[in-house]
Amino acid sequence: MRESSENRWQENRLLASLPERDRSRLIPQLEILTLFAKETVYESAEEMHYVYFPLDCIVVLISSVEAKATVEVGLIGNEGMVGAPILMGAKHSTSQALILAEGKALRLPAAVLKKEAKRSSRMRELILTYANALSAQSAQLAACHRYHTPQARLARLLLMIDDRTETTELRITQELLARLLGTRRATVTEAANQLQEVIQSVRGRIRILDRQGLEAKACSCYAIIAAQQDEIKPPSATY
Ligand SMILES: [Zn+2]
Repeated sequence: MRESSENRWQENRLLASLPERDRSRLIPQLEILTLFAKETVYESAEEMHYVYFPLDCIVVLISSVEAKATVEVGLIGNEGMVGAPILMGAKHSTSQALILAEGKALRLPAAVLKKEAKRSSRMRELILTYANALSAQSAQLAACHRYHTPQARLARLLLMIDDRTETTELRITQELLARLLGTRRATVTEAANQLQEVIQSVRGRIRILDRQGLEAKACSCYAIIAAQQDEIKPPSATY
C-alpha cells in the first residue's frame, strides 16, 4: 500500500505543488484507498479525522436544510483536497462529502496535516489558498442556484465534473443530479432534454457530445469558478 502512495501523489495537484521537503515528510503518512460512488467521507457535522487528496475520484459537497432539500456547495477532484477547512480551525464538516465518481484518494490524518502545516509556511499558504478558492466556489454556487436556470446549471455542473475526470462517460443518475441542483427530478429530465444536442443522457450515463456547445449553454458561473481554481499557483521555487 505504501508503495502505491509513494508513486501516485503526482496525480494530485496540491501534493505536486508542495515543496519537495514538505512532501517527503507527508508521503510515508499517506494511505491510498479506493472511494466508491455514493460513499461519504464525512457526514454533515461529523468530526473530520482525516483529509483526502483525490487522485482520480470526484467528491461533491452537499448542504441540506432538510433531509430532502439539498444542494451542491462544492466539487473537488485532483486539483484539491477534502478537509482543507481544518487549517482554518474547523473541526466538523459543514457539509456532507459524497463520492460522485469512484476512484483512488490519498488519506492523511488531520492531526498530521495540522502539525506539518505549522512547520511549513508554504504548505499552509498553499492549502489556505485552496480553501479560499473552495469557499469562493460555494459562494458562487449559492448565487447560481438562486438566479440561473436548471438547464444552465446542469450544463455548468456537467462541465465541472468533466474537468475533473478522464472518462468520456459520466455515471450519474438524474436523481442525484436533482439532489445536487436542488430541484425535482422532473426538472432535471426537462433540462437534460433541452441539452440533447450537446449531451446524451441514457439511464444514469451521460456522455458529452459537444463540449464547446455545452460551454455555450452553461451559465457564467462555470468560467468564474474555473478562473478561481486557476489562481491557485504553487509557491515559487518549490522544486
Ligand atoms: Zn450559474
